Amino acid sequence: MPDRDHICKACDGTGLLADDEFWQYTCTVCGGDGIMMPNENPEPAVPFSVDDNNRVLE
Ligand SMILES: [Zn+2]
Repeated sequence: MPDRDHICKACDGTGLLADDEFWQYTCTVCGGDGIMMPNENPEPAVPFSVDDNNRVLE
């Protein structure tokens, strides 16, 4: 059981988030482990991939 103080508030410790259509994806805040360490960087580790025309790649 993770420390309650460190449970990721974005995903509530599940490590998964769901969008409006209920597609689940890995929580980008905690990296999917459901634990938000004080020194964990909340910024996404990898920026969106874009091509030469700045379109977001699927
Ligand atoms: Zn999370």
